Amino acid sequence: MIGDNIEELYKRLSKANHLMTQVRNREDRMALANYIGNLYTTIGNVLNIKVKPKKKQIFGSKDGYKKFYRVYDSKENEMLDNLIKYKEFHSELFCDILFDVKEIMKSICDEEIIEENIISEDSFYEIFMGFMNSIGLEELFIKFLKEGRIHTTVLKEGDTCLGSTIYNPLTKDLDISISNFDYTVMCMSTLAHEFGHVYDLDSLNEDSITYNRYFYQSFFGEIYSRLFERLFITYMIKNNILKDQVKNTIFQLELMNHDYLLASYILSLLQDEYLKDSLYLYIDKKNLIDMVKYHFYESSEVMDYLYGVRSLNVGEDFTYAYGDIVSIFLKESVEKHGFSNVLVKEFSRIRTELFTPDFLEKHHMNSENYVKLYKKEVGLLKK
Ligand SMILES: [Zn+2]
Repeated sequence: MIGDNIEELYKRLSKANHLMTQVRNREDRMALANYIGNLYTTIGNVLNIKVKPKKKQIFGSKDGYKKFYRVYDSKENEMLDNLIKYKEFHSELFCDILFDVKEIMKSICDEEIIEENIISEDSFYEIFMGFMNSIGLEELFIKFLKEGRIHTTVLKEGDTCLGSTIYNPLTKDLDISISNFDYTVMCMSTLAHEFGHVYDLDSLNEDSITYNRYFYQSFFGEIYSRLFERLFITYMIKNNILKDQVKNTIFQLELMNHDYLLASYILSLLQDEYLKDSLYLYIDKKNLIDMVKYHFYESSEVMDYLYGVRSLNVGEDFTYAYGDIVSIFLKESVEKHGFSNVLVKEFSRIRTELFTPDFLEKHHMNSENYVKLYKKEVGLLKK
């Protein structure tokens, strides 16, 4: 993208590598190791080369690498324990939502996916600037462009746009990376998603412990990003910009998020023993289907899903599922009162804590209210 500055990425890499030799705290080391890994991937993407750093390069020693995985595993186990603790709550919520949106999803699946139209570079910036302006964040976008903090690689045929936000909680450096990028509405929504992370992290200002908990344990890490995606889509619809392309994008996003909900529901149906220590990863698909099919009206639904898609992943599936659910409520209040409303403030306060149903229950974030808002969102398209 304009101003994309690879030199700065190298500088941040050497700064992070240097920090890695200085810090002893295990949480700092885990955060840095993830950051360095992401920087390598981004640099590799931008230069279109495969870079796989040696473990020793990141961790300083084999021992450092082992320690990293020990911390990482203990975080994952804590996340799984947390899932087990509120399993019934998750299961009921996902089940009700999936049941209620079933008809709408069917009609979405019938929609014809049209070719992505590539728009001019100028209109891409103009439209996106308009969106950022509408939520009062034009300055942030300009800053990122000026400092070359948005790194993109061009579209490879058949691949969809993939974004990530790379953040160093020790230096607070932030960059956005988007691969398979092109000037389309889909990529614009990916950019909006990443700016949700930027906005979130920019205001986080916490240490590595909190950051690691937020992104590797809490299920709340994709709420701001999905919120920005939703705000972007609504901005486009309300201003009648590139309507067909927007329609396409919304359908793709809904299908993707529906998959995360379905995956999370399947996971919430498993017995505790399969969730502990991530044993579910080793169950073969046929057994997995046998374990959960009785919970579905049509077992073909779960079969299609499990045979067709990637494997289940608690961290990813739950984080995106809750990102989808909670963001629809936050969006409603942002539209009414802007970002400084009570609900967003309260969410910002609790976002780094481990999941409990309290926040959702207190604000009536249940399936019934979700579906009401969901119908309103999808209904915007029918006009
Ligand atoms: Zn994200």
